[in-house]
Amino acid sequence: MLDRSEHDLERVPKVLAIDDCTLVHGLLKHHLRLEGVDLHIASTAREGVAMAERIGPDVILLDIELESGNDSTNGFEVLASIKESSTTSESAVIFLSASESTADRVRALDLGAVDFIKKPFDAAELCARVRSAVRLRRMMRMLAQKASLDGLTGLWNRAHFDRRLAEEVSESRRYGRPLTLVLADIDHFKRINDRFGHPVGDAVISRFASILATGRASDIPCRYGGEEFGLILPGIDAQSALEVAERIRRRLGEERWACREALRVTASFGIADLVSAERAVPDRHGSEALVAAADEALYRAKAAGRDRVYCLAGDTPPRRIA
Ligand code: GH3
Ligand code: MG
Ligand code: MG
Ligand code: MG
Repeated sequence: MLDRSEHDLERVPKVLAIDDCTLVHGLLKHHLRLEGVDLHIASTAREGVAMAERIGPDVILLDIELESGNDSTNGFEVLASIKESSTTSESAVIFLSASESTADRVRALDLGAVDFIKKPFDAAELCARVRSAVRLRRMMRMLAQKASLDGLTGLWNRAHFDRRLAEEVSESRRYGRPLTLVLADIDHFKRINDRFGHPVGDAVISRFASILATGRASDIPCRYGGEEFGLILPGIDAQSALEVAERIRRRLGEERWACREALRVTASFGIADLVSAERAVPDRHGSEALVAAADEALYRAKAAGRDRVYCLAGDTPPRRIA
């Protein structure tokens, strides 16, 4: 999953031009043909907003005067609706207008446009400004991604875990597909720190994280905090999640730690699926129920002797694999 987002940063930038003039369409196509961008064109405000919503452009080139029959929506209004939608609010908008008015420029920038190009435009300047907007978008995406990653392990961090779990709960409900959460906690980790020192403790956390990250592309492995991890498994039922967790548990137990012969690391796992969790924890819903139920299963795995996987499945008593 981390690979997928990294790849995202490298994708061909999408540029959407919204302008009512076909001559401008032709010029943009011609000038931007060597810029390595994927250019889309819309002629009306309505078409532009719909297209932006569909493709999620990195950069939008936006005309102010958009004549189209009885549709009198202008570029400022288009910008306002682009800023309102979560799909397009981050797109970098460059106004492209013949307007000489300083008030128009000020208004455009105040509404959230990043730049203003005066028509008729110079080809080299147009390309340079588009490149600059593409760089800005790439930087913003990189920052957003960094803010979601855990520094030690490179897994998703807790903030991302919370966001994604809530999103996956909605998706699971919308499409009626299973959603399962695995919470994992390294056993007696304090002792590992005490006996071998914090740097070894950190190395153990990193190694465990890399084992967690070897699953399918759709798995969402996160560092929940300290020596605790959350593995969100969209589309996976509790039974398959038991097998996933058991495989991870076994792999961790088989790890040999080159620098520390005596070191053995185990972890405990708690599992819950959304449907069972909401039944088992009736006073909570969605991601809260899921976390509470998986946490309860984890607690029982710890109490039963650690180094095992427990699953809380609704009315049935927790099942155990050890
Ligand atoms: P249990 O089997 O019940 O989970 O016992 P435990 O010792 O693993 O659990 P406890 O919660 O008592 O201790 C967790 C320890 O993890 C305490 C904390 O100092 C340590 N820890 C948390 N984050 C890090 C980290 O990033 N690096 C290192 N080295 N230690 C950490
Ligand atoms: Mg126009
Ligand atoms: Mg803990
Ligand atoms: Mg622990």
